[in-house]
Amino acid sequence: MKRKQLIIIGTGLSACQLAYNLLNDYDVIMLSKGDKQTGNTVKAQGGIACVMGQHDHLDSHIHDTLMAGSFLNDVAQVEKLIKNAPNVMQSLIQSGFIFDQVVGQFILGKEGAHQHRRILHAGGDQTGKRLTCHYHQLLQDKVTIIEQTTAVDLLKQEGRCVGVRTVNHSLERQDYFADAVVLATGGYAGIFQHHSNDPLMTGDGIAIGYRAGAAVKDLEFIQFHPTLAIGHQQRFLISEAVRGEGARLVNGRGEYIMADHPLKDLAPRDVVSQVLYTRNQQGEATYLDIRSVKGFQRRFPQITDLLHENSIDIKQGLIPVQPGAHFTMGGLAVNEQHETTVPHLYAIGEVAATGVHGANRLASNSLLEALVFGKDLADVLRNKPPMSPGTYVPEDLPMKVQPLDMSIEALKQANETYLGVVRSQTALKQFEKELRALPITTRGAIDHPTKTLERYTSENMLLVSQLVLQAALNRKESIGAHKLTNKEKQAVRQ
Ligand SMILES: Cc1cc2nc3c(=O)[nH]c(=O)nc-3n(C[C@H](O)[C@H](O)[C@H](O)COP(=O)(O)OP(=O)(O)OC[C@H]3O[C@@H](n4cnc5c(N)ncnc54)[C@H](O)[C@@H]3O)c2cc1C
Repeated sequence: MKRKQLIIIGTGLSACQLAYNLLNDYDVIMLSKGDKQTGNTVKAQGGIACVMGQHDHLDSHIHDTLMAGSFLNDVAQVEKLIKNAPNVMQSLIQSGFIFDQVVGQFILGKEGAHQHRRILHAGGDQTGKRLTCHYHQLLQDKVTIIEQTTAVDLLKQEGRCVGVRTVNHSLERQDYFADAVVLATGGYAGIFQHHSNDPLMTGDGIAIGYRAGAAVKDLEFIQFHPTLAIGHQQRFLISEAVRGEGARLVNGRGEYIMADHPLKDLAPRDVVSQVLYTRNQQGEATYLDIRSVKGFQRRFPQITDLLHENSIDIKQGLIPVQPGAHFTMGGLAVNEQHETTVPHLYAIGEVAATGVHGANRLASNSLLEALVFGKDLADVLRNKPPMSPGTYVPEDLPMKVQPLDMSIEALKQANETYLGVVRSQTALKQFEKELRALPITTRGAIDHPTKTLERYTSENMLLVSQLVLQAALNRKESIGAHKLTNKEKQAVRQ
């Protein structure tokens, strides 16, 4: 009998976990815009939040997740995530993955807004790299991975998703059809000028899902991480785990910046980012003082390498930092079965808005989300009947593409200015006017005579920026990662 066909757009952790759990049930094709390591999974430094310690409790992890999310979370989804975490972690360990341990006990890290040490990690700060390697080994020769291939639009027939249209680096077009299509394309922090992400993470999944008619949710909630190191070559993340081990934020005079907050340097990310942003705006430089972290190079080997590459002297112990876009809570709206509002189209990982993160994500909950919900979607898809065989005649999508008539850099800069750490409704309205003034045509890259991969990306970035802007305009109160200026906060309260 012919096996069911599954297309997963993405090769990150959520995609790999799904594929691994469906090896016996589906023929799986996985697509990646770059090589198979492209995406944010490989960059993850902190680890995976999971209740493993004797003094910790599931209720405490649930509480911390809801607090971080300003209680805008979907409580049922949060409970599902956290209660399933220990079992999913056991399965990962049984599949051969090794977390850092000392004398048979897991070494548990601490990150911002967690009441307990509960971050499992591997190779110090190399959890993402090791997870990527582990899953790619498990999947080797068992799934078809197609690299350097960009999904540009979804294919629909009679209202349901039946496949995906792709282009490769030579701009050759290829359509793939399947019983189910899963978007696992990661987040959209790459639409900003300063961010910690893989530069390809510019929200393609949201754009192509939206064009196919899928609803979006919570797009205004973008987490800005307080500590992006300012290197010669690039901005790059310095994990919160570094502050968990004792590093402190200081100004140029060596004064502690977070001294007045009850949680000090481990206050929630939005709080710390806003403090640093305000100081940076006033012209003050901010630093992470790592001199009190014992065995820094051993505990954080990947960050140590990045610091060397960017000529930041570890011995001096002061890393220049600023906040930058890091994780996107919003995405394609999905139900408990991970299905978008388009039948047969599913979304998992950072591209999905499951409601677990609410208005802000608790640190190290996203690798967990990829693992728990990747497995959960596998359980859903395993029981689905195959689609009846037939000829696919894809219909036109409801929405056409608007080209970006400005440089990608200019758009990223505008997003940084208007949609960054602190927002103002007045400025958002100004941005809306500027984007409205861009010319509208209905001829997107796919039909354009001078189509390029950059053109596909820029069109998607424009659409995602417009959607984020709309969501930010609609969210009148200052909450979680959507921070309004103090003046506007007061105006809303009156
Ligand atoms: C620097 C950094 C550190 C982090 N540290 C942690 C941490 O310690 N703990 C934690 O929980 N979270 C962490 N995160 C967040 C976490 O890494 C991500 O949320 C998670 O890995 C996302 O996994 P994913 O499967 O959704 O997508 P990703 O791993 O981002 O993969 C996206 C995939 O989609 C593919 N793709 C995208 N668009 C297209 C397209 N148009 N066509 C074809 N393919 C496409 C890409 O090629 C890629 O394969 C960190 C993030 C960053 C940036």
